[in-house]
Amino acid sequence: MTLTAYMTIDDSPTHNTDRLTDFLVQRDVPAALFCIGSAYTDLDIPCQGMEQLPDPIVRAIAKGFVIGNHTYTHRRSSELPYEEVIAEIEKTESLIETMYRRAGKTRTHKLLRFPHIDRGAGGWIVDYNAAGEHGETLMELFGSGLNIRMTPPSDAQIEKKAKIQDYLTREGFCTGPFGGVTFPWYADTEMAKARDSLYTFSTSDWMMNPDFRAAGYTWLYNSLDELKQKIDTDMWLNSAGSANIVLAHDHNNMFGATTALIDHMLSKNIRFLPV
Ligand SMILES: [Zn+2]
Repeated sequence: MTLTAYMTIDDSPTHNTDRLTDFLVQRDVPAALFCIGSAYTDLDIPCQGMEQLPDPIVRAIAKGFVIGNHTYTHRRSSELPYEEVIAEIEKTESLIETMYRRAGKTRTHKLLRFPHIDRGAGGWIVDYNAAGEHGETLMELFGSGLNIRMTPPSDAQIEKKAKIQDYLTREGFCTGPFGGVTFPWYADTEMAKARDSLYTFSTSDWMMNPDFRAAGYTWLYNSLDELKQKIDTDMWLNSAGSANIVLAHDHNNMFGATTALIDHMLSKNIRFLPV
């Protein structure tokens, strides 16, 4: 049985981006890299953006990867005024355009994924109530194992989320490359219409980031074997007939875990489609 999926990588660039993209080329795995604009600190760990590390992204474009927007400083959109959310997106867009110019390649589509999948309404990633019988699946998918806050959103946040989607529509953002996802909780709900990129399976590889663990954070999954088991047992990832959108990360010091999980997916005959 061949399963199909799209590979998406969040939080580039890092000091690992060159070897991660080399690894993906070597394994014949196309991917979208959702990139940060500038330096930020997340869970006490200092991270870099394209302003600090432009060259690995220029090289990634030359290698054929698609660069998506992951905002300027990786902040939670629910905690920012609308204008600041837009500024976070636009500053990053201008850096992405520069990266494509430097690589001498034409950008074919505009993708964006919000940090922490915070689309303006906090942990209310998708409208669970409007998703009817699919609400339960969505809650399970996004509510577990993510570093999100499940407080119900305020009316103002719901309004902000809708306004952000309108902005993304006007600016031509799309999830065009991620076709063929037929799960009803995706295809019949807001997920399919959203102008930002969501996912259908998270590798949760970030839980293996030794920097977070050294800082004292603990997560739901504690070993690579547990994460491989998550790949083996996830009912959606293992369903033929729908493509999946897989989420993995590019973090400093985490190359081994991410690549081991990608290799595990490849060993299960998951074929990664062009993005
Ligand atoms: Zn991120």
